[in-house]
Amino acid sequence: MKLAMIGFGQAGGKVVDRFLDFDDRTNSGIVRAAIAVNSAKADLIGLENIPQENRVLIGQARVKGHGVGADNELGAEIAEEDIDEVQNAVDAIPTHEVDAFLVVSGMGGGTGSGGAPVLAKHLKRIYTIPVYGLGILPGTDEGGIYTLNAARSFQTFVREVDNLLVFDNDSWRQTGESVEGGYDQINEEIVRRFGILFGAGEVGEGQEVAESVVDSSEIINTLSGGGVSTVGYASEDVELNTSGGLLSRFTGGGAGADDGLDAANTTNRITSLVRKAALGRLTLPCEIEGAERALLVLSGPSEYLNRKGIERGRKWLEEETGSMEVRGGDYPQNVPEVSAAILLSGVTNVPRIKRLQQVAIEAQDNMEDIESQSKENLETLVEDDEDELEPLF
Ligand code: GDP
Repeated sequence: MKLAMIGFGQAGGKVVDRFLDFDDRTNSGIVRAAIAVNSAKADLIGLENIPQENRVLIGQARVKGHGVGADNELGAEIAEEDIDEVQNAVDAIPTHEVDAFLVVSGMGGGTGSGGAPVLAKHLKRIYTIPVYGLGILPGTDEGGIYTLNAARSFQTFVREVDNLLVFDNDSWRQTGESVEGGYDQINEEIVRRFGILFGAGEVGEGQEVAESVVDSSEIINTLSGGGVSTVGYASEDVELNTSGGLLSRFTGGGAGADDGLDAANTTNRITSLVRKAALGRLTLPCEIEGAERALLVLSGPSEYLNRKGIERGRKWLEEETGSMEVRGGDYPQNVPEVSAAILLSGVTNVPRIKRLQQVAIEAQDNMEDIESQSKENLETLVEDDEDELEPLF
């Protein structure tokens, strides 16, 4: 499906920048337009692929290009004040060629955390195409203020978008590595998962047409109904058929030979990938039971995909989630791996969010306590005990 991506804040901009790179590398054709919005000039300059004219600096009058310093209320305020500048950039997009907006942002900071929900609300008011959010949760080691920002942004962002796809930095940190150091790798994981998902149904030049295609309406229908979504992914290396059909004859011919022994291998590989994807690390860890809707996308060389495998995978997902709305299809790609990407939409059993909210409330209480005692504490420090000293004036 074709998306207009808007990265809000530093993380948002970097991830959209990376999506452009992914699009280039894989010829997936999902990014119809890419815009970055920020209140920090340096972050906009640091981007590599987003065209200069699509980099929008907001809040200049208030913060002079220096960012909002993790103050997401200020982030929301300046987004509202300067929404016309963002709209000018959106105006240049051929929106009639776009299936949906995707507003991407880190929820723990200031500019994106506050601004992304404001932009989503604005876009929904003006356009009829869906507005999705891709919200990134901060690592738990980032501290109270980031957690509080994320908890408040999450509540607002979910309310303002047609669906909020969530990625949790915390569960993607490599052991022994700070989140900061691992962003490059994390961002690659983000674009791979969401790229394969949104890329399904976009047939580029020279790509094969899928046997049971996933088209953008299936992605839209899976996301419709709102709420929160997570994505699972698993892949396995396979040999690429480079000798013009030799391998497909060797393996029994792929989709057309469903009853052969190798077709059984193909089916088994697919069903095991589906299990791994759903039960492995999700972009937002949660219980998959109770997910309202799901979409399974199998991608890889067409000789390694078959209808039976997808059907089995779909059935299994129905049983595991208890949902009757499980869609599935394939996305043939000339790459040496078979992969399963699973979109689970309308998830509600998410302990990670409940923990985030708890820590956020503690942080909020703590900040209020400190603030209420601050004046008194400063007075105790500045005034001498016996009140013998006088200020100058
Ligand atoms: P903003 O510019 O004020 O919106 O704030 P940032 O985007 O810099 O930071 C918000 C949060 O996003 C941080 O707390 C991090 O959790 C996360 N973050 C920052 N940069 C990246 C990045 O490149 N990738 C990912 N996945 N997360 C990031």
